[in-house]
Amino acid sequence: MNMATETPASRRVLVAKPRGYCAGVDRAVQTVEKALELYGAPIYVRKQIVHNTHVVNTLREKGAIFVEETEEVPEGAIVVFSAHGVAPAVHEEAARRNLRTIDATCPLVTKVHNEAKRFAAKDYDILLIGHEGHEEVEGTSGEAPEHIQLVDGVDGVDKVRVRDPRRVVWLSQTTLSVDETTETVDKLRERFPELIDPPSDDICYATQNRQMAVKEIAREAQLVIVVGSANSSNSKRLVEVALDAGADAAYLVDNATFIRDEWLEGVTTVGVTSGASVPEELVVQVLDHLARRGYDDVHEVETVEENVRFALPHELRRDLRGAAATSS
Ligand code: SF4
Repeated sequence: MNMATETPASRRVLVAKPRGYCAGVDRAVQTVEKALELYGAPIYVRKQIVHNTHVVNTLREKGAIFVEETEEVPEGAIVVFSAHGVAPAVHEEAARRNLRTIDATCPLVTKVHNEAKRFAAKDYDILLIGHEGHEEVEGTSGEAPEHIQLVDGVDGVDKVRVRDPRRVVWLSQTTLSVDETTETVDKLRERFPELIDPPSDDICYATQNRQMAVKEIAREAQLVIVVGSANSSNSKRLVEVALDAGADAAYLVDNATFIRDEWLEGVTTVGVTSGASVPEELVVQVLDHLARRGYDDVHEVETVEENVRFALPHELRRDLRGAAATSS
């Protein structure tokens, strides 16, 4: 048997850029790391700080304790709120239990909370496009539960009931598919022609940029591997966007060990990207895994340059400044 005729002549890898950590995730992970350094372990974290198994396990090894609700945190202890944001009721509960809170909610999620509060104060009906049960949606809805109703994609549009069709606004979760959300909004607008748009995009820059980049590589790749955890909304959307953009197959993997050799059969071009909560070391492991299977012609495809950074939460910055002043 002549193996040469069976082996694809060239085995390329196209790596999307931007990929991986966004500014909000970077800030949230650093918040827990710096809190551990400053105050010492344990530091409690409500929910997964970001939706990535590797990140959560690494922080756990350093002394973070992840809990589902603040009631599991001992009185007086420090608790960090995750990047996805929390409802006001969670802040109230933490205050009642004398917890010291550090809020690592991404500023772009806070922006959506503020929009919800503003429109609720003007007595609008708010149609929040998002995935039922997602922490971010629960946090945003909690800002004005009596004004907000969830629209879970195009199929949810028919169920919407509003008091006055002239006073309706839509907002969204930050990590949705841009194209699918446009479809949902178009359908909502058919029902409510005076529907108001959010003052600025709620789907965040990182989600939009990663979708744009994966589209670019998916046009040429037969297979797209998205590194990300199964509960990561933006990572799951990257798989869908890759398939819509023309990839024959696309899979979400937590790390390289999940890649199956049969996915690579007959594939000459593999696309690789990662969700906004994924550290680059996991992508490097995937590229090493592919290289060992002959996919060593690697090209990075950059669609846009990102340089967004967020400052650490103010309560942590204040204590870091205090510690620096004491030690100098
Ligand atoms: S994905 Fe967007 S909204 Fe979510 S943490 Fe990152 S920058 Fe913030």
